Amino acid sequence: MTAPLDLLVIGGGINGAGIARDAAGRGLSVCLVEQDDLASHTSSAATKLIHGGLRYLEYYEFRLVREALLERERLLGIAPHIIWPMRFVLPHVSALRPRWLLRLGLFVYDHIGARKRLPASKGVRLRDRPLGQPLQGHLHHGFIYSDCWVQDSRLVVLNAMDAAARGARILTRTRLISATRRNALWEATCEDTRSGKRMEFTARAIVNAAGAWVGDVIKQRLNGSSRKHVRLIKGSHIIVPRMYEGEHAYFLQNPDSRIEFVIPYEQHYTLIGTTDVPFDGDPSSVRISAEEIDYLCASVNRYFKKRLSASDVVWNYAGVRPLYDDDAANAAAVTRDYELELTGGGETPILLSVFGGKITTYRKLAEHALERLQPLLGNSARAWTDSEPLPGGDLPASKRPDDDFERFVAHTQSRWPFLPPATTRRLARTYGSCVAHILGGAKSVGDLGEDFGGGLSRSEVDYLCDREWALTAEDILWRRTKMGLHSPSDTPAKLTAYLAQRAVRP
Ligand SMILES: Cc1cc2nc3c(=O)[nH]c(=O)nc-3n(C[C@H](O)[C@H](O)[C@H](O)COP(=O)(O)OP(=O)(O)OC[C@H]3O[C@@H](n4cnc5c(N)ncnc54)[C@H](O)[C@@H]3O)c2cc1C
Repeated sequence: MTAPLDLLVIGGGINGAGIARDAAGRGLSVCLVEQDDLASHTSSAATKLIHGGLRYLEYYEFRLVREALLERERLLGIAPHIIWPMRFVLPHVSALRPRWLLRLGLFVYDHIGARKRLPASKGVRLRDRPLGQPLQGHLHHGFIYSDCWVQDSRLVVLNAMDAAARGARILTRTRLISATRRNALWEATCEDTRSGKRMEFTARAIVNAAGAWVGDVIKQRLNGSSRKHVRLIKGSHIIVPRMYEGEHAYFLQNPDSRIEFVIPYEQHYTLIGTTDVPFDGDPSSVRISAEEIDYLCASVNRYFKKRLSASDVVWNYAGVRPLYDDDAANAAAVTRDYELELTGGGETPILLSVFGGKITTYRKLAEHALERLQPLLGNSARAWTDSEPLPGGDLPASKRPDDDFERFVAHTQSRWPFLPPATTRRLARTYGSCVAHILGGAKSVGDLGEDFGGGLSRSEVDYLCDREWALTAEDILWRRTKMGLHSPSDTPAKLTAYLAQRAVRP
């Protein structure tokens, strides 16, 4: 009989992975089970901003905005390869929010969260200026402010990798089927979703970080109940060929008072989102609707010279926000803050369930979760994740975050001079200093093995399988990387054949 785990974490989205990492680093024994791939649901379907949420100021969410802005700087510090600063242009439209209100909101946004490394907001003229160039001529004035961008699914994987490096077990394609209370322990049954093989675990605590399934886990898997609930709100994005030059994004206000982002994406594309649609279906089968595509295009067409229609869309994705249900009247007003519910302790097994949250606040959420769990588990290790780099994030730091990364790209290019510059940049952005595990002693592109398309080499694929739990072509092309956008149409088949051959290798 093996010793009981301290924590069995259900869910390999950002919250489960963040809690597993924090707990493992405090010396707790941890196993995380994810029924699909890491980040295969909401945590790869975000707008991908590490942001305070300027819009939330309208709902007086000052606690959340402050915490998120503080996190913005911390996360930029621990993962400067996959997180980078971005400037957002907010055009002023006099019929919508007044200029004084935008200025006031941005003043608060600049000052509420101890901003150190990112530039402050300012007013900008748009007409006849480069920032206004792609916009319609009636937009004369606006503001520009800072937030950050993140490769969302990679943030999840890096947390899982670091958790594993600190002793956690990470089991993907493994579903919690049920868990029952026996004295002070949980007895849990999990299933490998590919082979059907069952596994039994005992644990002192279960962390229910199942996102949209949090209620399902409580009711169906743990035979329990809760007074807290999540409200599922669908959000969808479209990707179109690049609409403008420059690395800045646009923040558009819609007449229904919702907002939308237009963001440079993967060098050759523009990402547009998101919608806010109440959702009551199966979270694993969420899809964008034709109405959402039309809504997103119509918003862009109110601001940009270039006209967009559904036929411009090259890719799309949708996800559900598992928001903590605070009884708000409409979808946009539901809080983006999180709630933790803790039961058990002493003679009964412990259950901590996560309701709501944002990618931006995952690290702090994990810290709060550990603060609540530690006394019950008799662990007193200190919080540690605020300055410890995520895998690949140990780039030399300077005052301007862009400098760190550019120096790292130059260093990578000089160490492996045979790489095409675009590949060097992509690898640096994806893996940071872990790029050395992929490129190793290679002296030519040929040393990296077969190219599956677009520069995705066998060495990179092997790394993703060996160290990042990638199992399928989709894991590799759409979550570990976004090579799905850049590779030819036969890449998935080639990759699938290679992965099948790799799986049977002795
Ligand atoms: C459209 C949209 C835009 C967003 N934009 C942003 C943004 O720009 N910035 C930001 O900070 N946040 C954003 N968010 C919010 C953010 O994406 C979510 O808050 C976050 O990803 C939720 O993570 P999670 O770990 O709770 O859930 P998930 O990522 O869904 O993870 C939960 C996991 O639990 C697994 N699971 C469920 N049941 C079981 C079981 N029985 N056994 C094993 N595993 C199980 C699921 O398979 C799933 O992978 C956005 C969300 C959406 C939908």
